[in-house]
Amino acid sequence: MSMDNNTLPRIGAHKSIANGIDKAIDRGLQSTCECLQIFTRPPRRWDAGKTTLNDKQVGYFLNKSKKANYFDTAIHMPYLPNLSSPEENLYYRSIKVLQEEINTSHLLKCPYVITHLGSPKLETRKFAVKRVVNAINKISETQISPTMILLENSTAKKREWGKKIEDLVEVINTVDSPQLVGICLDTAHAYASGYEISIPETLHEVFDQIDSLVGTDKVRIIHVNDSKGQHNSGIDHHEHIGRGNIGLECFRELMQHPRFKKISMILETPKDNQTNDKDNLTLLRSLRKN
Ligand SMILES: [Zn+2]
Ligand SMILES: [Zn+2]
Repeated sequence: MSMDNNTLPRIGAHKSIANGIDKAIDRGLQSTCECLQIFTRPPRRWDAGKTTLNDKQVGYFLNKSKKANYFDTAIHMPYLPNLSSPEENLYYRSIKVLQEEINTSHLLKCPYVITHLGSPKLETRKFAVKRVVNAINKISETQISPTMILLENSTAKKREWGKKIEDLVEVINTVDSPQLVGICLDTAHAYASGYEISIPETLHEVFDQIDSLVGTDKVRIIHVNDSKGQHNSGIDHHEHIGRGNIGLECFRELMQHPRFKKISMILETPKDNQTNDKDNLTLLRSLRKN
């Protein structure tokens, strides 16, 4: 396979914004990331509130992004908002957070905001579809700049939904502005929720399905995570590349097959002392070649 950069997917990682939002870019460069994902606020705290960025901070971020050639940085929504919540308070608060993250994405010129579909608790799937669709419609009504909301597949724990391709597709096909909605596919979530993607043929079947339903160009990001959880275990536990149950064949296929070449690949592997983003990226690069 040619090593021309245009024929390969770009690979990067989720990076912390601790001590300044532009520091995520420094960390990305240190780890040899070619693309980036960030949280703009602590993901598990409601009280953290939205990030207020002054012009200087925005300027640093934009300058460094340009130099690093990070042109498609993704903002991941914090975890507490629930766009399927049956509780009015939580639901409207969740829409507000999504709106705030979209506003931040405009400021920082990040083209994607990634969200999970959330949980309707004891309500039905039909209810959940309506909730998420209504949330996205409310936001796209006022949307001027084209940030895409990427729906991420889940492992469907705690009555969460969105583990099936059909779930993501139904939302895309029901919203008023489907051009503003895309897909972020997480390999660990897909595997733990029943897609046997450690077998490259199954990986291709998943993409054939997406292709026939909405077109694979809807998939803008793949979270490349190996899985500690077994196939179909429902256990959402990310592992370093090649050290989990998915194994290298799936990642080799993602790195080499032309159908994935326009999709940015982002690591969300553990931050521990076993290995690090840089080494995971080195391994992925070696898979791009052989
Ligand atoms: Zn996620
Ligand atoms: Zn993910």
